[in-house]
Amino acid sequence: MTVRLVVTYFTVFILTLSLIGYYIIATTNNFFISEEKMNASKIANIISSFAANYISEDNSHVSEDFSPFLKSLLLDDKMRVLIINKDSLAIYDSHNNQAILGKAQVKKSVITSLGGKEGNENYKDETTGIDIIDVSVPINSGSGIIGAVNVVYTAEGVRLFTSAMRESFVFIAIVSGLLVGLVIFIMVNFMTRRIINFTDKITLMSDGVLDEKMEIKGNDEIARMGMAFNTMAEKLALNERQRIQFVSDASHELKTPLSSIKLMADSILQNPDISREQTNEFLVDINNEADRLNRIINKLLNITKLDTQIESGQVNFELFDLGAFVLGIAKTLYPLAMDSKVTLNLSGEKEIYILGDKDTLFQAIYNICDNAIKYSNNGGEVNIILEKNNNNAIVRIRDNGVGMSPEDAEHIFERFYRVDKARSRETGGTGLGLAIANAAVKAHGGHIDVISEMNMGSEFIIVLPLTDKS
Ligand code: ADP
Repeated sequence: MTVRLVVTYFTVFILTLSLIGYYIIATTNNFFISEEKMNASKIANIISSFAANYISEDNSHVSEDFSPFLKSLLLDDKMRVLIINKDSLAIYDSHNNQAILGKAQVKKSVITSLGGKEGNENYKDETTGIDIIDVSVPINSGSGIIGAVNVVYTAEGVRLFTSAMRESFVFIAIVSGLLVGLVIFIMVNFMTRRIINFTDKITLMSDGVLDEKMEIKGNDEIARMGMAFNTMAEKLALNERQRIQFVSDASHELKTPLSSIKLMADSILQNPDISREQTNEFLVDINNEADRLNRIINKLLNITKLDTQIESGQVNFELFDLGAFVLGIAKTLYPLAMDSKVTLNLSGEKEIYILGDKDTLFQAIYNICDNAIKYSNNGGEVNIILEKNNNNAIVRIRDNGVGMSPEDAEHIFERFYRVDKARSRETGGTGLGLAIANAAVKAHGGHIDVISEMNMGSEFIIVLPLTDKS
């Protein structure tokens, strides 16, 4: 990849530089040629304004004073001056070429000037490649056009200048091309090394090594990709730790009732003299533990199902009245509240329409209300209050029961976390109820807050967003 990138960048750079160079040289060349053309035209006009005085009456030659006159103009020796008579014959040549004198000059510029207008053109000399500027202007006397001045200028200076420019350009292009190539090579190599390093880390991760980190250098796109990678790796590692913790906690929770069952069954089997009454006592305990196992397994299944539903987005949203829904839950909990000698009250807004999955929200609200009753003292009071603001539907579940410390409040939504294991066990708790409630509310884009004080009571606040349709 490095070689390919370097070659591509290098080629693009050289091509761009060559195009710019070609354009600059061509423009400069054109500029100088037009300057030289103007210069030649000025000179031709000056000569023409005096030339009539030097042309003989019969239009066949120029007087001898013409050459000194031309010399007095201090013309460049690359400039050749011809005087053409009105019959297109050359009657004077500043370069004194006898072969030309007396011969007809049928050049375009001469023909134009004999017609009364200035003629000019420029072309390249076929052998030397030098630009030739050819300007002719008519010579007027009182009787009309008596001939033309033809100035031919070999613009060698322009050629020398442009070829020097071309050479410098080629030199600059090669040197800067090499420098750019080197810089690109270093940069691309640096980048590809980082990408290779990145790929290696991903490969390691896919092999199960989750504590790999990308080294972050700078703040460019690759560094940002590295940061995103590190965040993802941290999340994956955390997920993995939570998964292992969950499996170990779940096994432990299942093992405890199972061990009791085994112990009690062994006691019955190994004690042939055991009375009917004692056997019955053991069997009642075995039955309770089996129920407990059943409850844990059901909740575990529930929580796994909820996780899968949330992950796959299979939550079944429908529009319903939260007020009527919570009233239904409260009604199912009245018998339990009565048994526990707890007063259960429902107040606040009656109709709050929300979009939600009834099954999962039932578990969330039911579990929290159930806890409020379970963790209340005899004669306690549980208040369920429904509220609504611009953005949210709010269900407050307030009790004046045992409460908990702020440290415990931070952990109660973790799976299997229980403040008072004995009390939770007594009331048939599994430590999964709040974890289920939390996952269910989160699946609705909401959250649960808790305010609690030891021996004073707790308030659980379920906040569910109201959608546009609700
Ligand atoms: P459990 O099945 O043990 O009730 P939960 O997940 O529902 O499990 O609750 C976790 C722990 O949070 C409980 O064991 C209990 O200690 C504490 N808790 C929950 N609700 C209340 C409450 N209303 N008052 C006091 N403590 C509570």
